[in-house]
Amino acid sequence: MNLLHPYGGLPPFPLVADKARTGGARARTAGRLSRPNAAESYRAPDSRHKVSSTVWAASSARIILPVSGPEPATRLRLVILDMDGVLYRGDQPIPGAADLARHLKEAGLEVRYATNNSMFTRAEYAARLESMGIAASPDEIVTSTASTIEHLRRHEPAVRSVLAVGAQGMIDELQAAGFAVRHAAEPGDPTAHALVDAVVVGLDPEIDASRLAAAADAIRAGARFIATNADARYPTPTGFRPGAGAIVAALADATGVTPLVIGKPAPAMFVAILEGAGVTPAEAIVIGDNPESDVAGAHRSGIESILVLTGVTDADAVDELTGELRPDHVAADLAAAWELLAGRLRSAG
Ligand SMILES: [Mg+2]
Repeated sequence: MNLLHPYGGLPPFPLVADKARTGGARARTAGRLSRPNAAESYRAPDSRHKVSSTVWAASSARIILPVSGPEPATRLRLVILDMDGVLYRGDQPIPGAADLARHLKEAGLEVRYATNNSMFTRAEYAARLESMGIAASPDEIVTSTASTIEHLRRHEPAVRSVLAVGAQGMIDELQAAGFAVRHAAEPGDPTAHALVDAVVVGLDPEIDASRLAAAADAIRAGARFIATNADARYPTPTGFRPGAGAIVAALADATGVTPLVIGKPAPAMFVAILEGAGVTPAEAIVIGDNPESDVAGAHRSGIESILVLTGVTDADAVDELTGELRPDHVAADLAAAWELLAGRLRSAG
């Protein structure tokens, strides 16, 4: 199967190429998209905009909306790829994902595969990508847990002991990083809970009142309050479930303490990626499908962004994006995203 044209045979319709509203910017390439083969509308996590899970089929040219001014002169060194909605949806790879990853490697670019999900280890994600034909090492995977660890190492080295509210994958990663980890579910001694340096909160599918109480006790006793991410909800095959952000909000409410949030759109995650890779914001680019997390996170970290229409955002929703939700570029699919990057690499020499 030709991955770039999986829904071939549908009649293409023209997409308005020059929709840019800023500073006389013009579309670099006129784009055409074929009809979507499915469009079930739902709201993305934290979305104020109606978005759609449209799957677009690629046609001829696909870069539809470069927005910002002149090409940056800085050489591109690092590409940060969101995973869900960019490389796969559920267990289905998105057309062109493996090709994009291979192109990036062959171009000598550093790649980081990023997710706000805190529940699984980097090794688990690497295995998942490998099953989709993408060769990634665990060091190239960045979960919100991994970014939390990177942040603590660099900026809060005094934190050595942690009370964890989260899934086993988060606890495994914290332990592997050398933290003394106590799980909020561990029975007993509230005094011991309260002695930890930090409370780290991710999505805990088995959250209950006693875990919340243990975490709240520790925060009130002075432990640093750190949220791996603040996603209000996350999608499952049977509908949305409360996300880590719902647990974080409960603890913030119960303690009156504002957490440090690491995951996008907070800047800490992308900043941790830049620091870990030794790359400046101008040398990096973010590719994501969600304006509210990927694009806003890129803005807040000073990184250029490409919004791809492979996930929660469709072409109609792009028109409504303003402020920090407005990406620097829009690419209808992953082949178009690569075209754009390849152009960048050529122009920077
Ligand atoms: Mg995504």
